[in-house]
Amino acid sequence: MTVRKFPPAPSTLLSRFAVLATIGLVLTGCAAKPASDAARPGWAMAVHGGAGIMDRETMGPDTEASYRAALNAALARGSAILEQGGSALDAVEAVVRGLEDDPQFNAGRGAVFTADGRNELDAAIMDGATLKAGAVAGVTGTRNPITLARTVMESSPHVMLIGAGAERFGAEKGVEQAAPVWFFTERRWQSLLKTLKERGLPIPPRPAGAPPEPAASAAAAGLTEDRKFGTVGVVALDRNGHVAAGTSTGGTTAKLWGRIGDVPIIGAGTYASDESCAVSATGTGEYFIRLGVAREVCNLVKYEGMDLQAAADEVIGRQLTELGGDGGVIAVTPDGQVAWSFNTSGMYRARLVEGGDPVVSIFKGEP
Ligand code: ASP
Repeated sequence: MTVRKFPPAPSTLLSRFAVLATIGLVLTGCAAKPASDAARPGWAMAVHGGAGIMDRETMGPDTEASYRAALNAALARGSAILEQGGSALDAVEAVVRGLEDDPQFNAGRGAVFTADGRNELDAAIMDGATLKAGAVAGVTGTRNPITLARTVMESSPHVMLIGAGAERFGAEKGVEQAAPVWFFTERRWQSLLKTLKERGLPIPPRPAGAPPEPAASAAAAGLTEDRKFGTVGVVALDRNGHVAAGTSTGGTTAKLWGRIGDVPIIGAGTYASDESCAVSATGTGEYFIRLGVAREVCNLVKYEGMDLQAAADEVIGRQLTELGGDGGVIAVTPDGQVAWSFNTSGMYRARLVEGGDPVVSIFKGEP
């Protein structure tokens, strides 16, 4: 006798689906993690300290060692927070603050000078969990612009504040101020003088309060550094699966007063979303703004399903390069992919994933 099998009635199908879905939900909620979640590291982070023309011989072993030590210290600072279950946002802010206080980098102390001899700082931070963002541009008296950016994000109804208004807001909120001379470094000043002379532009007076000018021979013997950028940026993934990004810079040497780069433009130099990725960029900002680099990387991940490295390479290796721009990005996804990509001969960079070994690199060809 043949037993005829009838397809189950739609209502039966629905109720079976409901039962399966309920079991699935219970398992997900109690014990089993989805495969991708189980595979993802608990936390991950990457740091950059700027991209540019770099080679071992010109840099010299001491400078190289000093940058590697700073990048290692940045990983240690961030991983200590993430390891203990701290938020990606806290890790990003803390690590960027440390780099802003380090005069080797073009952010906070050590920022490059504008053509009229001032330091005008830009910074941004973004929380991938909420899509909240804060940015400041053209600030001259805030010790840690990244903290001012976070304060804008958390304590104002706005995303971006600029110049004197940003400064006034920071002072009212108790964000630490600094005298302009705090940002002065001889190396960046000599860089400015060299660039202005090359361009035939007027030389501004040496800033009030700066130490006396060194002998010309000292300036010529390596105090200048004009082709390495030195902006800083951090991306992080925390144990709760949230990503965040932050970037801070003095901009580009001899920029026109009032010039704003990509760093504080959300989607250009800085972006974070738990639905795609977190990105921090460095390079000639004018190109990054026009390509919306940071958001473009995340869009390729989100809408084209690209893995993070492929997305970063497409934007930096093809789009930015074809437009004539130079620089790079670091990025992290909520599932723990970490990537960097740059089209210059070097980028100060470091990464660390829970359970892995730190990677600290400067030159092209390193991991
Ligand atoms: N992107 C920065 C700017 O254009 C500079 C840099 O990253 O070096 O302001």
